[in-house]
Amino acid sequence: MAYMKALNSTQFYACSKLAPLLRKFLLQLNPNANQSSTPSSSSSLLNPQKIHFVASVPSDRRDEPHTMAHLSKYFYEATAGKTCRDLYHPQYASCWKALAVNVCSLLPGSYKLFFPLLAIPPLVKGGGYTRQYWRDHTLSYSEISFKTYLIAVMGLSMHCCIYHIFGRHKYYFMGATGFISATIIAPFLSHPHLRLQGITYFNMMLEVILKKSEIRLVQVLRESKLFGTLLFMIFNTRIMELLQHGAVNQFWMMYPAKIREVDRNSEDNSRVMGRIYPRGYKACSHDRSCDAYILDGILKYSFAGFTIEFARAVISKFPLLYKRPDRFLPGLGKILSFKLMFFLAAYIAIYRMTGCLLCRHHGRDRPIHNRIAAFLSGTSYYIYPKYQVFTLAFTKFVEMSYDHWIKTAKQLPEWATRLNKIPFLHLAYMVGVGYMYHALTFHAHLSPPFNNKALNYCSGNRIENMKRRIVALMIETEWNKV
Ligand SMILES: [Zn+2]
Ligand SMILES: [Zn+2]
Repeated sequence: MAYMKALNSTQFYACSKLAPLLRKFLLQLNPNANQSSTPSSSSSLLNPQKIHFVASVPSDRRDEPHTMAHLSKYFYEATAGKTCRDLYHPQYASCWKALAVNVCSLLPGSYKLFFPLLAIPPLVKGGGYTRQYWRDHTLSYSEISFKTYLIAVMGLSMHCCIYHIFGRHKYYFMGATGFISATIIAPFLSHPHLRLQGITYFNMMLEVILKKSEIRLVQVLRESKLFGTLLFMIFNTRIMELLQHGAVNQFWMMYPAKIREVDRNSEDNSRVMGRIYPRGYKACSHDRSCDAYILDGILKYSFAGFTIEFARAVISKFPLLYKRPDRFLPGLGKILSFKLMFFLAAYIAIYRMTGCLLCRHHGRDRPIHNRIAAFLSGTSYYIYPKYQVFTLAFTKFVEMSYDHWIKTAKQLPEWATRLNKIPFLHLAYMVGVGYMYHALTFHAHLSPPFNNKALNYCSGNRIENMKRRIVALMIETEWNKV
């Protein structure tokens, strides 16, 4: 199994471990046999649940060097002489039939994928539920789901187009189908949707690049929770500093209070904070008492964290309610996590308490208080060291620093004016979708769970089935050499 080493995709490594079973499977499998493509038809030996035992693969194996050239070489060897039907739609002889089936069957998948986007925001909104809000919210959900469905149909059909144009399967075009579909749809997406998806896909791409990096320093540092926490603290400090300055105003987990003049005749009505650090007047910039300000933040952020985790768990275990109702609650209990809740609560508690103590100590608010409080509140990342949080902070840090510079610089250099004309959001979205499509096919063990869910829900598991066929073909080719 020489090529297994070179591949270094855990999935292919997984296949090598499954070799005896796979061989049996391959012998039974007639490449042209009807292979159902519905998500529920995952009973084969190569089903995603069984093949995705990535977590059990030792991390040292995951980090073995591999070259793209090797992977593409084995891809070309395995798919030589295979038609688009063999790889993408074995159950339909005609590409048109496959397209028609995709058009008719893929719509519910996109609506299912974005269901949390419909359910969670109203749960954490906490008020302002007007008729207009519900109308806009539902329309927005419907719009993003429908456009994603169009991308899925286009992406899948493009595999056939590319095969017919080149007369063979193209390794690099596997992801390009996602890129081209996203390029076609991007101009029709509303700005909030483009932003949401562009940043999500770009961040997932960063995650895969970080996980995939063969640079020794990156490999060591990405395993270090302490280093991740330190970087998050730095990003958080800069983001909060820029938000307080006010030239850029973007979404972040929290917003600092604007610094205001101290009224020395005001009364400090904080009992707890007053006891910890007494001050004869109100030194902070926030409204209400320090106690109410801190407690309110902790409660709101805990509630938001819990609601998100709870809704996520309910949505993922929902099918059990009608299949196996007795297993619903135990299943829910198993996957329900409180880490996001603790992270958000700790984040806001540290920030607000530090800010209040510093203001009390100095008798008034200063920008440095916000910086110190933000730096310290970044330690909460240690509770929830997720790539999604890290990449979001990194992207915001870069984007907001750049935006701030553009808006506040007295005179911009020529290159910056030119750079400003590049539609970065569109590019991030297009490249991100294409890259993640490629990552799911060839580096599934590095692909974030949301990406697997997104592509497989929207494609009705066709991408997963396609990937399984490619893996099976690669193994078959290798065995035939022995
Ligand atoms: Zn076809
Ligand atoms: Zn205060």
